[in-house]
Amino acid sequence: MEKVFESHCHYHLFDSTVKMDESLLKKEFPITGTKKVCFLSIPQQFSYDGKKKFDPIHNLRGIYLKKAFAPNAYALAGLVLPETQLSQEEITEEYLNQVKKYYEMGFDGMKMLEGYPTFIKYAGISLDSPIYDKFYKFCETNNFPIIMHIANPDENWDIKTASKEAIAQGRVYDNTFPTKEEITNQMFNVLKKFPNLTLTLAHMGFFSNHYSNAIKFMSYPNTRLDVTPGGEQLINMSRHWDLWSTFFETYQDRILYGSDYYPFEEGKYWLVAVNRRPSFLREFFETDSEHLYLNETFKGVKIKKSILHKIYWKNPLNLYKKPHKINNNLVLKEIEKIKDNIEEKYLVDINEILKLFN
Ligand SMILES: [Zn+2]
Repeated sequence: MEKVFESHCHYHLFDSTVKMDESLLKKEFPITGTKKVCFLSIPQQFSYDGKKKFDPIHNLRGIYLKKAFAPNAYALAGLVLPETQLSQEEITEEYLNQVKKYYEMGFDGMKMLEGYPTFIKYAGISLDSPIYDKFYKFCETNNFPIIMHIANPDENWDIKTASKEAIAQGRVYDNTFPTKEEITNQMFNVLKKFPNLTLTLAHMGFFSNHYSNAIKFMSYPNTRLDVTPGGEQLINMSRHWDLWSTFFETYQDRILYGSDYYPFEEGKYWLVAVNRRPSFLREFFETDSEHLYLNETFKGVKIKKSILHKIYWKNPLNLYKKPHKINNNLVLKEIEKIKDNIEEKYLVDINEILKLFN
């Protein structure tokens, strides 16, 4: 099995402790051929109706996993939306201070879910808001990579075409949400302001029906796309593969493997869950036969071995290079800062993290 650098791995998606995440992933990575991994933090998320889910130690869980899987792991931090009412200037400074802190702590970049339709609507901050300007500037100047999620698949804006899954999970957007085009344009405005930003879009940018946007995005020098499944971009692309094969050929050095992975709870369907997305990607890229993915039939596109190796391994490695050195003291200082006013349910994990860093 060709080894992969999993550039898009989540954690703590069920009520797992850091220890559970660690031991599950240690069992799962050998099955999926994962030899290096980048952990992505998502401190907060908004549901369709505006409920905020916040995990005050999500970034710390990420740096824990990075250390637990060293030297083969990387971690991207997520900005924490201030709880209190701050002025625009204050949030701008707050975000700058946060990114500096994570940079010094030893994170390898930032994950932004801030381009998600619910986030833009409920946090009320567009991706190109001046609130992020100092943050982007810092990332651009320090060559600090960002992975950004923008919008979602096209069909999620239309109840008639949305998948059953999307409807059930409340990912269909009416006109109270920003449109897909608006969000994409916000992202392009960011690049207009910060053209040298090291920016990766997850899920191929959800560009499968927007070839010219994909080309425009890649016209910037430090942009990349990851192939994480979602909606399903790759299958759409395979239906116009004459077009997209040229794209993969042209940008073969800037397309990254990622499966939107996360540890799965052990049980009857554990192995099925573990393999679902990684196997889909392998079937898609490595074979030219027919397969099934989430009730959809597709034919693999069997790309050249040399390109496959770049996507699976070389490109993520070229982006992240050597993992940034973790500053234990700063991690401990951060725990010290939040420890006393945190809910009790986090203490088990806080103690595990302390144990690893002390
Ligand atoms: Zn993801």
